[in-house]
Amino acid sequence: MPKNVPGPYYVDESCISCQICTDEAPKHFKMTDINSNAFVFKQPKTDAEKDVCEKALSICPVGAIGNDE
Ligand code: SF4
Repeated sequence: MPKNVPGPYYVDESCISCQICTDEAPKHFKMTDINSNAFVFKQPKTDAEKDVCEKALSICPVGAIGNDE
């Protein structure tokens, strides 16, 4: 998705805008203004932040969140 900030975590085109990741990790995932999809606006840095993003990745119902690390 074009709005993802550069880094290992991203949301791809299969996002169905369910907002589970934005509820789980609101410091890292946001919905677009028109709720068309989620995107990563802040990459995790600390281990705790990475854990939160991994949890979001694992509970996304369509596997739209990726981690290139
Ligand atoms: S959990 Fe997955 S499908 Fe739902 S908004 Fe986030 S990236 Fe999109």
